[in-house]
Formats: sequence, C-alpha cells, structure tokens
Amino acid sequence: MANDYFCPHCRSSLNPGAHVVMRISHRRQRGLILLSPQVGNYRRVLPEGFDLESGELVDFSCPVCGGDLTSPVDRKLGEVLLRRGVDEYARVNFSKVFGERATFVVETSGVHPYGAHAARYDDLNFFGEGRSKSP
Ligand SMILES: [Zn+2]
Repeated sequence: MANDYFCPHCRSSLNPGAHVVMRISHRRQRGLILLSPQVGNYRRVLPEGFDLESGELVDFSCPVCGGDLTSPVDRKLGEVLLRRGVDEYARVNFSKVFGERATFVVETSGVHPYGAHAARYDDLNFFGEGRSKSP
C-alpha cells in the first residue's frame, strides 16, 4: 500500500508524485525539499545551492497553505498526517534538525520510532500527557 501524506492544516496531499514535498526555510533560504514516502528512508533532495550544516534547525511548512508543520510535541520535530484508512490517520513526527535521523509514527496502538537518532527523543510523550515516572 502506498504511503499518502497530508498537511494537518489544509489536508492537501503532500505526495502527489513519488516524493513527499514540503517547503523549507533557513535564514534567508527558501525552497522545496523532496523526501521519501518510506518511513525511515532519509534520502532527500534539497534545492540546488541550499546551504545547511548538520545540527541546524530547518523550518518546514506546507507547500499548499503555508501552514507551519512544527509538531505540537516538540519544536525540533515536524508533523504530517499519514493515511491509514478512510478518515483515519497516523501522525508522523520527523526531526527538523538537518542530519538528524529520527521519525515517529504515532498510531492509536502506540509510537513507532525510526532512525538512528530516535533515542534523543525518548522523553517525549506523543499522547499529550506527562509521562508517569516511577515514584
Ligand atoms: Zn496545508
């Protein structure tokens, strides 16, 4: 089954073709980034001449409505919707830090982490409640 991604604001498709398309900006640079629809595949296509260094935080927005895709969970993550069925979506959170490989697919059944750097976000709670710690 193909992975279909949508903007959480306007519900436009973010992958009309083979890639997920998002708008990125960093300092004065703006452009479109192409990402693999396959979760955990970190191949990407950046605009020619786009200058980013590892560890820099990049802003991601919807190419259709311009809505900020920053996750409500963490400002270093972005969030898009992944269709799982009729009117049913998983929330896909991905790192907006250049070079950082961390992706989380948030389903009703739980959070599924991907990427070598996912452990950096171990303390996050994707369900909106404080994580309970043992007393
Ligand atoms: Zn949108």
